Amino acid sequence: MKTIVLKFGGTSVGSIERIKKVTKIILKYKKKKNRVIVVSSAMSGVTNELIKKSKLISGNFDKAEYDALVSTGEQAACALIAGRLNHSGFKARSWMSWQVPIITKGPHNSSRIEKVFLRNLLKYLRSGGIPVITGFQGINNLNRITTIGRSGSDASAIMIAKFFKADECIIYTDVEGVYTTDPRINKKAKKIKKIEYDEMLEMSSLGSKVMQPTSVQDAKINDIEIRVKSSFTNKSGTLITKKFKKKNINNEIITGISFTKNDAKITIAGVKDKPGVAAYIFEPLSKNFINVDMVVQNISLDGKETDLTFTIRSEDVKKTEKIIRENKNISFRKLSFDTNLAKISIIGVGMITTPGITYRMFKALASKKINIMVISTSEIKISVLISSSLLKKAVAVLHNEFNLD
Ligand code: ADP
Ligand code: ASP
Ligand code: MG
Repeated sequence: MKTIVLKFGGTSVGSIERIKKVTKIILKYKKKKNRVIVVSSAMSGVTNELIKKSKLISGNFDKAEYDALVSTGEQAACALIAGRLNHSGFKARSWMSWQVPIITKGPHNSSRIEKVFLRNLLKYLRSGGIPVITGFQGINNLNRITTIGRSGSDASAIMIAKFFKADECIIYTDVEGVYTTDPRINKKAKKIKKIEYDEMLEMSSLGSKVMQPTSVQDAKINDIEIRVKSSFTNKSGTLITKKFKKKNINNEIITGISFTKNDAKITIAGVKDKPGVAAYIFEPLSKNFINVDMVVQNISLDGKETDLTFTIRSEDVKKTEKIIRENKNISFRKLSFDTNLAKISIIGVGMITTPGITYRMFKALASKKINIMVISTSEIKISVLISSSLLKKAVAVLHNEFNLD
């Protein structure tokens, strides 16, 4: 008997009709005599609505209450799924994280799953039931509800698969798998049949929302293969797995193109250049949970002053400005901000052994008169910052340049 974890995302359970549809998928696996464990997100839009409400109540909403609030969407979705399975004549019930229990560690809003207790669920599975478990939530050592970060149900599914030593873990979503780029922005995007963890991890960390980064990292560490499929069509999807030898038919060095919109660039010009200055600037930002992404520091010609440029999310601009202006440990001449930017990244393990990729990327962007503001690279990716109004054009030209069309 196989153990199969099936995770459904927000759009997959986004309406009553969709919930009826996913119960049919669940029953297909159940009827093949598998041991089926279901994990669900909230119905699409519900978590966002709850977050909005918390903001209307207070600009400084208590983090523990935030988790208690925003995790409720999953409870509703799971009860609806279980209810429909019951209606179809099958034994099923919803399981909240505290009933399993799923133990998390770390701060509210961004906890990590540490342990999934098996006893209660195993007993239930042995009795023939289908557990429908809330994704996204857990409980901590103080018995408070926690959440594990936006899109966290992916990680819930992976960790449940890990603790159950599941034979399969299938992520059902609203596209047919992982594509060379977001199919909603480029119609020429192609489905990737098989992708290795490291490439998927880069793609999701750099903005490809189809899989949440933590979940890919958890899958990699625990060697859990993930299949990403559509709950709307019956296609084979994408397998995320360990390193494998690629058949390089089209000479594809780049596997995928990811992007984030809504980036902002900050330049602090004329900073007194002394040891530790960067640490002085970034320490208070990190303490305020402002995520600094790309960083460039100019070489100071006279050894006295330097310019420092870095990127953050647009919504953090005001807070960042205030923190920098109030920072007594630094002095500078000018502070400037640039919003409505996008970061576009090309990813591929083939880059390690292929020279000239950076040049091809820059040349392709230049051919469309797309200006590059900041660059950052690693062994398997190159990211550039551009104006977000040129994003679609940039994705298209790079997709074509690297034979992904
Ligand atoms: P779910 O609610 O099922 O978790 P998400 O909205 O989190 O779904 O993720 C699916 C979405 O990810 C797709 O609708 C698609 O627009 C987006 N996406 C971004 N990049 C990619 C990519 N490279 N391949 C497939 N989908 C992508
Ligand atoms: N419902 C949560 C969110 O919207 C978790 C998830 O969808 O995976 O972020
Ligand atoms: Mg998701």
